[in-house]
Amino acid sequence: MKPDADILEKITACSGCDMLLPAIDPAPGHTVLCPRCGTTIKKRSSHSILKVLALSITGLLLYFPSIFLPLMTFESFGFHDSASIVDSIIIFFQNDYFIVSSMVLLSALVLPALLLILIFTVSFNLYRENYPSFLPLAFKAYIKLEEWAMVEVYLLGVMITVIKMKDSADIQYHIGLFCFSALVLISMAITTMIDREIFWQTIERGEKKQFYSRTRETPLTLCKEPQVSANRNGLALCHTCHKLSPSHLVTCPRCGDRLHSRKNQSIPRTWALVLTSALFLVPANLLPIMRVDLFGIPDRSTILDGIIYFFHNGSWFIGMIIFTASILVPVFKIVGLLILLLSTRPCSRRFLRKKTKMFHFIAFIGRWSMLDIFVIALLSALVDFGFFSSVQAAPAATYFCLVVAATMGAAITFDPRIMWDRCFSCTKKKED
Ligand SMILES: [Zn+2]
Ligand SMILES: [Zn+2]
Repeated sequence: MKPDADILEKITACSGCDMLLPAIDPAPGHTVLCPRCGTTIKKRSSHSILKVLALSITGLLLYFPSIFLPLMTFESFGFHDSASIVDSIIIFFQNDYFIVSSMVLLSALVLPALLLILIFTVSFNLYRENYPSFLPLAFKAYIKLEEWAMVEVYLLGVMITVIKMKDSADIQYHIGLFCFSALVLISMAITTMIDREIFWQTIERGEKKQFYSRTRETPLTLCKEPQVSANRNGLALCHTCHKLSPSHLVTCPRCGDRLHSRKNQSIPRTWALVLTSALFLVPANLLPIMRVDLFGIPDRSTILDGIIYFFHNGSWFIGMIIFTASILVPVFKIVGLLILLLSTRPCSRRFLRKKTKMFHFIAFIGRWSMLDIFVIALLSALVDFGFFSSVQAAPAATYFCLVVAATMGAAITFDPRIMWDRCFSCTKKKED
């Protein structure tokens, strides 16, 4: 049976609970939320393509001075040392912490540049009404890589470093820091201004042909029953572009991604990643994360030692920020994901709306745990006064990076709609 294109244009599905909803087009500046689970369905932004194009051009102009010019200079013991973001990464690589250095390199340097190039390419072509065949692929790559770029976390790391060192060193600020701060504002503005649905609709209208998709030979029967999931109506929401398509299609006709009614192997993959991160969390907290050499005498400190240092010096606010980012957030993410995984058991029906909101919160906070790693990267570049004083990463930094990567991965593989499915099938059983 052929899908009814008219019906598909009038409906959409929630990515949080899979409830079928009428496709409402909100006014610019307004957001449509799912009435059942509270997930954002659509967020409209006016002149999104033009604004994103202007912001991406500004971001590209700011990128090179932000990354290569020195951020600041530290002066202590008559020595002075200045560092740019590139310097902090090079020195980190020289310390032989390959996993940590690679993660800092990707999240603070490579991905921010790649994202700016991708979003400039997409918005420039859409603005010019030019539709090369690579456009869906470029926008898909932007969406998938977006959360792994962490310039705003790096900037918070710069602020923490300044507060940490202001009593023991004279600090001079350079043009690189101002350019980098502007770059962070630009990338945050792009995330706010981008209207993904408008971008995808424009790409879809401009494409002469849709992605070819094989069918799974399952008949489509559209049900008019309200408040039921897309899956039960033979429909599937694309994970990448959020287009609703008949679930017998193998690939999404708009972005070309593989179409699954639920994320593939969601539960076993999330369990594996959550257990891995729980395992690595132990050495990440027990082993030293930073080594400070003062007059040749090494002093190794754990994450907790660093937090206690701030509390002893009266910097309660900074101590609380590092405590939240380095201890509270990883533990909350692991416990929260365990609760979500246990909620996928049959007949687990309590607090589903709150649990869906908790899932979105876990996905949002994941990247902020990298804060401590960025502070160490900056300190190792800025405090390099030979015999007198130097800062290096210590073994816990590797385990800590693995915890951050595994919990972020777990938030990507988990599909909250499975919780709602199990609740729904349970109700059905009781009715039967
Ligand atoms: Zn929902
Ligand atoms: Zn798609």
